[in-house]
Amino acid sequence: MLLQAASPMAIPVVTLDPDVTAPAKQVSQPQVLPAFASSSAPLQHIDGAFTDAVKIRELARQVDVVTVEIEHVNVDALEEVANEFAQTGGRSGQGIKVFPSPSIIRTIQDKYLQKVHLAARGVPVAPFLPISADPSAPVSSDDPLGSLVPAVVEAGKQFGYPYLLKSRHLAYDGRGNYVLRSGEPEAVRAALEALIPASSLSAPGARPLTDRLYAEKFAPFVKEVAVMVVRGASGETRAYPAVETIHRDSVCHIVYAPLRPPASANSGVGHDQRGLNAVVGRSVDERAQEDAQRAIDALGEGAVGVFGVEMFLMEDGSLLLNEIAPRPHNSGHYSIEACNVSQYTAHLYAILGFGLPPINLIPPAAAMLNLLGYSSDASQDFLRPDGVVAKAISMGAAVHMYGKAGCRKGRKMGHITVLGTSDADARRQIAELAALLPGAYA
Ligand code: ATP
Ligand code: MG
Ligand code: MG
Repeated sequence: MLLQAASPMAIPVVTLDPDVTAPAKQVSQPQVLPAFASSSAPLQHIDGAFTDAVKIRELARQVDVVTVEIEHVNVDALEEVANEFAQTGGRSGQGIKVFPSPSIIRTIQDKYLQKVHLAARGVPVAPFLPISADPSAPVSSDDPLGSLVPAVVEAGKQFGYPYLLKSRHLAYDGRGNYVLRSGEPEAVRAALEALIPASSLSAPGARPLTDRLYAEKFAPFVKEVAVMVVRGASGETRAYPAVETIHRDSVCHIVYAPLRPPASANSGVGHDQRGLNAVVGRSVDERAQEDAQRAIDALGEGAVGVFGVEMFLMEDGSLLLNEIAPRPHNSGHYSIEACNVSQYTAHLYAILGFGLPPINLIPPAAAMLNLLGYSSDASQDFLRPDGVVAKAISMGAAVHMYGKAGCRKGRKMGHITVLGTSDADARRQIAELAALLPGAYA
């Protein structure tokens, strides 16, 4: 989708992805773009892992700006090329820029450090604790996980049950989250074994046990909210409207834009004592946008590009930040058809130094339905004559199929965006479409 946004401006994009047939590589072939026909070497997509330092270097040589669409990348390698090529490297020989900066990606990669960073800067988050090994109890080689048990039980004493144990690294779509329902030894053991498989303890370069998990108090939210923020190199920010996100099995399923909060939430108590949400009685949308922009500013100077800010709307109208994605985000896909400037175009403007546009939702309401795989060949079903895509087309909705090579349960295979004359209209259209999806997603 980033390449689709780059195309109308003839911005050549080179993609690094392990998959030779990656969706982005199907969208454009940079070497044939006429704007760059006179350049000496043809531009070429690169097949390689996001963690491969050699491939990251190869990418950096071909471009002027490096950005990411996933946070699980080799940050050390990005930092190296950012420093080494800062003045004279890159395609133009004028130096390259890496946005967002590697140090910000590093902070966000570790969900615990991300929370520490944000909380220290006054961003409201659910209470959290590190899960560290008991220093007085030496780690037993027979039972390494045993050293974490006291910290898990202690978090339960502080937070009550249920609470969440979360993996600090490589988490996505809820993989890495565990809802712990009691402090009983078997329950604690099952949680630790689920989050830290034995195979991961002996793997080469395995992370130390005390660096694996953290605990987070359960937030009994009334809605999940997300705000896309775009920040330019000059430090200016713009927010997209707050949206409601609905998850199924911890995977984003539906997004409604704009957010329609319960009436009580709009005059919520806010967080006056913390200096945030200071004006009581302001709309949730305004407060969510403001908090999201403040959170992105709190990441520091290198926060350039778009960011997805996930939040919890609480019963009393207050907002807690759940996590930040340093990239375009699923909750912002609706912006492709429903906003004057999509999250992808806004990202390009920001990282290329074009300045930021005003951002508006065009129709009164919009909504997005993810097409999540429910079997290994579900992608065929979406395209059946009586399937969800045909229905979407008949309704005038926008269909995006990603062209991913394989389908599996929960995999994001595409999405559909509807525009509505009202929130009720957008919801009705989504309900009609979702009714054509099987079981869990209907
Ligand atoms: P993503 O795919 O968005 O990166 P992730 O794997 O990083 O997801 P989280 O965003 O931490 O996971 O959590 C996934 C979902 O679990 C949230 O969207 C929310 O529904 C639920 N959740 C997470 N933390 C809490 C909490 N403290 N209290 C209640 N529910 C939570
Ligand atoms: Mg996440
Ligand atoms: Mg999340």
